Amino acid sequence: MSELAVAYIFHHHQLLVDHNLQLPRLLEFDPNQFLSTGDRVIARDLLDLEPIPEGYQLVPIRQLISQWTKTEFEQASRAVQLLEWRRNHRFCSHCGYETHVHKREYAMVCPNCRYHQYPRVQPCVITVITRGEDEILLAKNAKASNNIYGLIAGYVEVGETLEEAVQRETFEEVGLKLKNIRYLASQPWPFPSNLMLAFQAEYDSGEIKLQRDEISDARFFKFNHLPTIPVAGSIAHAMIEHVLHGHAQWQSSHSKN
Ligand SMILES: [Zn+2]
Repeated sequence: MSELAVAYIFHHHQLLVDHNLQLPRLLEFDPNQFLSTGDRVIARDLLDLEPIPEGYQLVPIRQLISQWTKTEFEQASRAVQLLEWRRNHRFCSHCGYETHVHKREYAMVCPNCRYHQYPRVQPCVITVITRGEDEILLAKNAKASNNIYGLIAGYVEVGETLEEAVQRETFEEVGLKLKNIRYLASQPWPFPSNLMLAFQAEYDSGEIKLQRDEISDARFFKFNHLPTIPVAGSIAHAMIEHVLHGHAQWQSSHSKN
């Protein structure tokens, strides 16, 4: 008997799961309908007007993250990014012709000029900043509707090193200079197609000065007196745990609790 394929079926950053939050498993599937994203992992978008199957529901991906293992998260992340890329590259960016899907590679090919469009990731730096032995800088995103304090993050610009991006983002958003910047870990983050590159750094100089359209509040908090931080499963959570407890949680699977 052949193995079941794990199906990721998306609808606007929501995913089809059963009432126990488990993904559908299929014995047979139509390869024209599903994109194969790896070994027995398949994905597609829910079609317009397609009914939700009995016993299933659509749940926002962000809500599922804390339930998933690291492998499930990585599979979902890959599936959502490949589908999004395919959706956004239906036409050639060079000459405007309608593209088709490459038979073997992840590429959208232009039949007119032969231009190949490949999936791209956006490198994004995220930094956990400490001051002294027991203080951490946490910031509240101006666009967020919740009360979560997270880390300073931003996209790497063309021509910049990762360390320069860390310094620039921190200076722009909170007006601080950093020292001892070092790489910690990375995580693909499918909102929409980022590669989060985690850094740790120490406060060097400056007074906190907020970039108001990005950050509504930022402060150094004592380790034993933290506000609400990002959910388990996010790299920000693992980074904060790392500075508080000195061990890297992202090396094990995402917590199931
Ligand atoms: Zn073309």
